[in-house]
Amino acid sequence: MSNQTIWEARRWASSFLTERDREANVADLLLMHHLECSRAQLLANGRDGIDPELFAQFEKDIRTHAEEGVPVQHLIGQEEFYGRDFIVNGHVLIPRPETEELIVAVTDQLKKKGWSDQTLNMVDIGTGSGIIAITLALELQRVSMKAVDLSPEALKVARENATSLGAEISFYEGSFLEPIVETGEKMDVIVSNPPYIPESDRSSLSDVVVNHDPELALFADDNGLAAYRAIVSQVPKVKAEETLLAFEIGHNQGEDVSAIIHETFPYANLNVIQDINQKDRIILAWL
Ligand code: GLN
Repeated sequence: MSNQTIWEARRWASSFLTERDREANVADLLLMHHLECSRAQLLANGRDGIDPELFAQFEKDIRTHAEEGVPVQHLIGQEEFYGRDFIVNGHVLIPRPETEELIVAVTDQLKKKGWSDQTLNMVDIGTGSGIIAITLALELQRVSMKAVDLSPEALKVARENATSLGAEISFYEGSFLEPIVETGEKMDVIVSNPPYIPESDRSSLSDVVVNHDPELALFADDNGLAAYRAIVSQVPKVKAEETLLAFEIGHNQGEDVSAIIHETFPYANLNVIQDINQKDRIILAWL
């Protein structure tokens, strides 16, 4: 029997996925992964045969994604964020494109303030795979970057990412800002994409998310606001003379998170920024 062609593999996989309510695009992502090629090469070389062993691995991955909802990023072992590849697994939240907008908002804000070429003390709370800390450390010229997570397994992933991408970060295991309070240092910039999904939204999430992203990274008590309250209550202990606090937030949390910040910092200069889908997504607060 002659080998399957790239074109036949794509056709089989897209219809297999679509019939099971999965995205057809996963077929191309997994083919690109197994054949180590670009999308353009997939399209141009559609008549080429695929090595049967590679096809078998591809088929297995397609079935695992379609039938068990395992995210394609876990099958591939990485996801791209802000133009760089990050290792991911079930211990960390898979990077989301919304979080790239947080990076843009923070770097723009620091530029506007004239702070982008100063040495800044920065911390990323709940760093997960490390995307925020690592990207900011690499994008900004001079920062002293710290990153905290409660999960030792997540910190292992973040450390690997920092090493492979060449970012210098000090990692701490602990709850929100606690390890930073212990160092006694003051932070010029505090960034976080904490868990913010209310428990009540659980049933509306896809099985790919609920069964495979870590619970700790997704859900927060108090209607999704608990992490913001916890972080803001610790901020006075690590605040510098002037500090930028930057949060990613849920699409309807702009007012609530603003109120939480204003309770502790009545004079904070706040700005809620919407994402590309015109949903509240980021809060920047000068404290
Ligand atoms: N900071 C990490 C990220 O943005 C993890 C976020 C989280 O686990 N809620 O991906």
